[in-house]
Amino acid sequence: MQIGSTLRLVAIGAGIAALVGAMPVSGARAARSPIAIVIHGGAGSITPTSVPRPVQKQVRLALKQALESGYSALRNNRSSVYACVHAIEHLESSPLFDAGRGAVLTHTGAVQLDAAIMNGKTLNAGSVAAVQHVMHPIALAEKVMRDSPYEMIVGRGAEMFALEQGFRLVPDSYFYTKRRWRSLMRLLKQRGEYRPGLIGSTKWENLGKTSGTVGCVALDRAGNIAAGTSTGGLTNKPFGRVSDSAQVGDGTYANNATLGESGTGIGAYYIRLNLTKDVSDLMQYRGWGLEKAVRYEICDRLVSYAGANTGGLIAMDRHGDIVIAFNTPGMFMGYVDTKGRMSDEVMFRKGSCPVTFINGR
Ligand code: ASP
Repeated sequence: MQIGSTLRLVAIGAGIAALVGAMPVSGARAARSPIAIVIHGGAGSITPTSVPRPVQKQVRLALKQALESGYSALRNNRSSVYACVHAIEHLESSPLFDAGRGAVLTHTGAVQLDAAIMNGKTLNAGSVAAVQHVMHPIALAEKVMRDSPYEMIVGRGAEMFALEQGFRLVPDSYFYTKRRWRSLMRLLKQRGEYRPGLIGSTKWENLGKTSGTVGCVALDRAGNIAAGTSTGGLTNKPFGRVSDSAQVGDGTYANNATLGESGTGIGAYYIRLNLTKDVSDLMQYRGWGLEKAVRYEICDRLVSYAGANTGGLIAMDRHGDIVIAFNTPGMFMGYVDTKGRMSDEVMFRKGSCPVTFINGR
């Protein structure tokens, strides 16, 4: 095991018990499976300089709160889908991440959001892409999965679906942060593309660096795995671009037979490599273990195809074994393992491609 910095393991039994009250809840079935949750807040250009200590503290607090919300749901015998939606909603509400509020801006200065959720038991999935005005794209993706016969709804159609389903649409101003506006302007100026009145233009090249996508994998008491991812995409992306995060088998995947995964990085590569489905296939058809399959995809296959600094992945199997890997300078991540130990971390790369394994058995 190689990790970017020392993991802090905190026994949270007492804290979580206080948070969720006494177990079990009414209607609960006998506990069968261990429970665990792992989340990320993006991998990318995350360095001690780009993320100064006070910001690291804020990020870790947000990760911790998201973990607590997801883990308390699991302890209350809620499903892994429910736990992931709740954990991700928490991160979507924070301006610190590139998802929901605080998302990066398109080349035209708009916020367009993508999200996907997948149920590892049924292989049902739901996703939305290039959606605007929806505070919690992950909740809308879950609605697509549960209350529509479709897998993906995009753009205006997704907003219409949101209204039909009783979601409140919010103005663009809800999502805007000065930080993201400045990043877009800086990037455009650097590349000599800045001009007033950007609206209406699409640029297919010169995407910005990535960091701040959020994702979750959870294992519930029934032994079911779910995975979800939510993102604003990449700074300066063209209006209407759809990321890997919204696409099952690319940035998001869950299958009880193998694992649940959420990726973060340059989406084009995850799409071309069908990266998350490939990890699952290596486990299912070649019999590879979780750590070997994830390490191969992130540290070998992705790096040989696209180079270093291209992305990371969180993954968990049905035993609650967790693997976190990234080939970028850093990654925001957190987990509560099967023993109830919590870690929230801003990990900086040491070595070329750190892979962390947390034993769930
Ligand atoms: N994969 C996302 C995208 O390409 C970005 C990220 O994960 O940071 O839009």
